[in-house]
Amino acid sequence: MTLLEQMLMNTDSVVILGHVRPDGDCLGSALGLYNYIRSLRPDIRMAVYLEEASPKFAYLKGFEEIRHRTDDENYHLCICVDSSDRERLGEFVCYLDRAQSSLCLDHHVTNTGYGEHNVVEDKASSTCEVLFKQMDESRIDKAIAECLYTGIVHDTGVFKFSCTSPKTMEIAGHLMAKGIDFGNIIDDSFYRKTYIQNQILGRALLESITFLDGKCIFSAIRQNEMKLYGVDGKDMDGIIDQLRLTEGVEVAIFMYQTGASEYKVSLRSQSIVDVSRVAFFFGGGGHVRAAGCTMSGSIHDVINNLSLHIEKQLNEREQED
Ligand code: AMP
Ligand code: MN
Ligand code: MN
Repeated sequence: MTLLEQMLMNTDSVVILGHVRPDGDCLGSALGLYNYIRSLRPDIRMAVYLEEASPKFAYLKGFEEIRHRTDDENYHLCICVDSSDRERLGEFVCYLDRAQSSLCLDHHVTNTGYGEHNVVEDKASSTCEVLFKQMDESRIDKAIAECLYTGIVHDTGVFKFSCTSPKTMEIAGHLMAKGIDFGNIIDDSFYRKTYIQNQILGRALLESITFLDGKCIFSAIRQNEMKLYGVDGKDMDGIIDQLRLTEGVEVAIFMYQTGASEYKVSLRSQSIVDVSRVAFFFGGGGHVRAAGCTMSGSIHDVINNLSLHIEKQLNEREQED
């Protein structure tokens, strides 16, 4: 019996939490787990609390039932998914503090082990992959498979990032066998863009700047530009992926303004720089090839600070070679 199954046997109420600005893996794992518990143990009182997510994920079963505000409810068991530290849970951390028991399911190399029990597999492509291994496969129905497949697709950039393993593909195969419409899941939740999302992508690419001899590229979107185009953070998915694919680039940086002098920063690397180390230094976290953090100062300050750390790693590598 897996740890998840054991913990579900000994509880009558469960709260599921994920990280701020929930992405496909966070939503997929939270709702996959929600639907699994609902079918396995309908007697359990349960809720998912997450910040508002992009409506492109509305096809996931249970999406409309997600609660976006804190309330006075208490739950016995708190399960945190796809979140490397307590801060990532945002305001919903209060449910973790009030729970008698907790389980953290995650795949971030920077995970701090903040749960009472932690299942953290940093080689797994996604939290959905970790979660699949905690489930009884015969109890996974089509709706649960859609959730888990979505998370895997998003965290692997449609099965191509280095986190994709033979095991990932095997699990995806098992999920396909549940009858999901995998083509539509990929198109609708990953590739499809609204008109304004395409416009902001174009703007970000047009204004991008390369530095460190073309090994790095960055682009920044200010709040006034976000207002002009009518976009928010959820509309900027995919910009970093296009920057990353620029020929000759080792590290791509994308940031958008979240406050007077505050930026949400995304980092991606090709094969040398460990961006999780860079992000961790600035209070964030993530994976070796994909990480993020929130930084203060002007765009210039942010780039200068990041650049020092990136250059250091590039130099270290050159000395080794
Ligand atoms: P993003 O650039 O937001 O797509 O994030 C890339 C990866 O880094 C994801 O796995 C995130 O969960 C992680 N990440 C992003 N921002 C933070 C942060 N502030 N703290 C910890 N992990 C983060
Ligand atoms: Mn995530
Ligand atoms: Mn993830």
